[in-house]
Amino acid sequence: MATNIALVGIGKIAVDQHVPAINGSDDWHLAATVSRSGTVEGVQAYTDFDQMLADRADIPVVSLCLPPVPRFDYAQRAIAAGRHVMLEKPPGATLAEVHTLAELAADAGVSLFATWHSRMAAGVPHAKAWLADKDIKAAHITWKEDVRRWHPGQDWVFAPGGMGVFDPGSNALSIMTEILPMRVHLTKSVLEFPANSDTPIAAQLTWTGGVTGDFDWRQEGPQSWDITVQTDAGDLTLHDGGGRLVIDGSAVDVGPNREYPALYDRMAGLIKTNASDVDLSPMHHVADALTLGQRVMVDPFHL
Ligand code: NAP
Repeated sequence: MATNIALVGIGKIAVDQHVPAINGSDDWHLAATVSRSGTVEGVQAYTDFDQMLADRADIPVVSLCLPPVPRFDYAQRAIAAGRHVMLEKPPGATLAEVHTLAELAADAGVSLFATWHSRMAAGVPHAKAWLADKDIKAAHITWKEDVRRWHPGQDWVFAPGGMGVFDPGSNALSIMTEILPMRVHLTKSVLEFPANSDTPIAAQLTWTGGVTGDFDWRQEGPQSWDITVQTDAGDLTLHDGGGRLVIDGSAVDVGPNREYPALYDRMAGLIKTNASDVDLSPMHHVADALTLGQRVMVDPFHL
């Protein structure tokens, strides 16, 4: 029987990905939404989160699609009300607040899932398996997209806690930390801040192990979400955010890309045993990039 779930923060990603993934799954029934203005046709809509928690004891799971800064407060209240919680990426505005949520969830005996949708991209497990026994010579991340296309009118991305280009960049870091067979740490970070922004719009990062990354939110036209890894046994490239894999020039059949359906499959498994999945390693690199960052001022930018 399908489990009732409430979706909170009905904006771009909820509409684009969460609603279709839930509606396409036999595991889930979208039983309510909570949003100040967003709604989903045919689904009971609340504007007050506490009211939904009080009214709907029959909804054991909430999925939080809000931006990172307001998300902690909602997650804390959901856990206190005995609900299992799914967090969009990046899982919080700070590392410490997500550690707090993980402890609260463990104490309450509920599941907390800090999702990383790009890790579910079809090529990622194949890349991880192929790289597992290789000697890594170098790797490069190219993550360049158009912020106006993916975050239309979303001023929060340039406000404190919005993380700027690391909002999408954390997707690349979630793949990097999944597929590389060795641990790396940052040694250099150059961050480009628009003169009118609290968060960077571009970044050039250097890690140990010959790993580098070029992140930019000003790319119009075709978008670039690629990770290339050079090894002692040839080169591997993940394209299209992990959805397409090429090894030594040959395309590998990795099957269809179903990132968000796979996240909801995983959540269905976690709640069966009240287990949690909270891996903060991608966010460690975001925090380190901001800690180590050399600040370069660039032209003001307007969404
Ligand atoms: P969004 O559309 O700006 O925000 C989602 C919804 O959250 C808004 O429509 C708003 O709904 C609610 N909200 C915003 N600020 C709030 C606040 N301060 N307090 C309470 N509710 C608030 O953002 P999004 O693009 O969906 O992104 C949300 C999360 O998904 C982010 O963490 C992002 O990294 C992740 N994500 C986004 C994309 C993408 O392509 N945009 C892709 C993958 C993941 P109401 O006004 O109706 O309350």
